[in-house]
Amino acid sequence: MKRLAGINLPFIETAPPPVRVALRVVFAALCAALGLLVVGRLEPLLSRPYFFPAFGAIILAAVFTGARYGVLTTLMFAAGFAYLDLEPRGSFAIANAHERLAVVFYAVTGCFVAGVGGALRSTYADARAQHRLLEGVYRQREELLGALTHDIRSPLSTIALTARVLARAHGATIPDLARRADVIVNNVEAVDAMLRDLVEVAALESGRITLERARVDVAAMVRQVKETLSVGLPAERLKVDPCAGELPAVDADPRRLERVFVNLLTNALKYSPGLVIVGVRPDRGGVLVSVRDEGPGIGAEDLPHIFEKYYRAKGAAAQEGLGLGLYISRLLVEAHAGRIWAESEPGKGSTFNVSLPATRGPPSPVA
Ligand code: ADP
Repeated sequence: MKRLAGINLPFIETAPPPVRVALRVVFAALCAALGLLVVGRLEPLLSRPYFFPAFGAIILAAVFTGARYGVLTTLMFAAGFAYLDLEPRGSFAIANAHERLAVVFYAVTGCFVAGVGGALRSTYADARAQHRLLEGVYRQREELLGALTHDIRSPLSTIALTARVLARAHGATIPDLARRADVIVNNVEAVDAMLRDLVEVAALESGRITLERARVDVAAMVRQVKETLSVGLPAERLKVDPCAGELPAVDADPRRLERVFVNLLTNALKYSPGLVIVGVRPDRGGVLVSVRDEGPGIGAEDLPHIFEKYYRAKGAAAQEGLGLGLYISRLLVEAHAGRIWAESEPGKGSTFNVSLPATRGPPSPVA
């Protein structure tokens, strides 16, 4: 169809917009009139019960074997029709002029239908070839990134380890050494997190991630994430509201779901100076997690884009980041058939929500 979509009538497309619409309407009316004329001419054929199935056969032949074979089907059908069904029977000659015209119309229409079927076939083949090509590119990118990040992460961990060892060995005698070692370690960890994000994005986009699902208690997971973040982040600013109502279990990949909550809580602590309140509650049979902060909020022009790849809002430049955390979170939540969205009022704060469907079908093992 792509090929057909590129066909335009220049005298229509170059006309100014209101005239163009009028010309299109006139063209549609002409096509309808022509259609009626054709149908009238085809009457001797139309009344035969095999007429429409024959067009189905042409389409099938063209889609599965190519336009050429669709045309062959048309011609064979026209010949069979003349030979078996039209006077004089048992001969390809057609005595009645009206019937002769009908067969010619039929042959032309059938060839056109075969062409459409052939175009569908080649469009499908093109799409498949492009899909395969893209898959290969994604796989190569994933492999390259994997190898590259592996090679970068090893010396990084040596740097962090050496800084820690030096701080432990000489921290007491060299002033400020422990603090500087912390700065090194924190920066190494930030770079390490960015590298992990890049690898994760490549894996998610190549579609080669399979979720290892288990039954997850989301409230317990959120408390656990808070504990984990208390090493290195001001997690005392995090307050987890007690859960109101009975929470259904969620069928999720614990490692990946945890990743989403780590991203949201880290962002809230990173972009806001005040209290961050996390709520977990049952919602429409599933679970809703909301992370509310009292930070600067997100402008209306940025809000629709923050879940896009590499998007960073104006004002985020002061903080380290690649703009991948929310993109990864969205891909992960969607892989769980859930939904993630943000609400924000500039100057007052933001709320990030994650809604997850409850477990359906046979229960998975408990995480
Ligand atoms: P990063 O933090 O690496 O920039 P994210 O994808 O995690 O990437 O976030 C995208 C953008 O969304 C951030 O750059 C920031 O502008 C905005 N953002 C995310 N969370 C918050 C928040 N809690 N408050 C204000 N802005 C936020």
